[in-house]
Amino acid sequence: MKDGPTIKVIKRVALWRYQWDLSLTRFLRNRQNPARFHLGGSCNKCSLCCESPMIQSYPWLFRTRIIRWVFLWWHRKINGFVLIREEKKPHIFVFQCTHFDPLLKRCDSYDSRPGMCRDYPRNLLDCTYPDPFLKDCGFYPVDVHRARLKSSLQNLEISTEKREELETRLFLKD
Ligand code: SF4
Ligand code: SF4
Repeated sequence: MKDGPTIKVIKRVALWRYQWDLSLTRFLRNRQNPARFHLGGSCNKCSLCCESPMIQSYPWLFRTRIIRWVFLWWHRKINGFVLIREEKKPHIFVFQCTHFDPLLKRCDSYDSRPGMCRDYPRNLLDCTYPDPFLKDCGFYPVDVHRARLKSSLQNLEISTEKREELETRLFLKD
């Protein structure tokens, strides 16, 4: 169901807070450990990321009943995310988004989508090995040191197939 004017205002305020928090966190992290990967490619509008949006939470949030209830209430009431399952060990909530039209493969409230939808899949670059990109996603991680690593691979006595496999697995494609 499309967002009404009140929900749009609430989501706009939540978006400002989210973006401020994200920018600060990334700025501080990059000062300590400069980012290893950047995002290559572009969105091909396959809509796979809308089919079952996921949020990895803090362990304390996942386990504390009242905080967890507020968290899930917020995502259900404000973002239209309905919990369908959870993965206990990595503390992941998996949702169905009520804004997603599976037939048209479209978001009915794209202009007021939450910050996490706007950021995806850049958040995956924060992983040590950013492999969990969806199979048909048009984006991919690119190693910032790819030129140096590619030239090192050229010096190895390995087959062309093996070199190409390593380039893929090490995210060296441009
Ligand atoms: S709010 Fe829109 S962009 Fe975000 S998951 Fe739902 S359908 Fe996709
Ligand atoms: S999975 Fe990737 S390519 Fe597909 S809609 Fe989401 S961001 Fe775009």
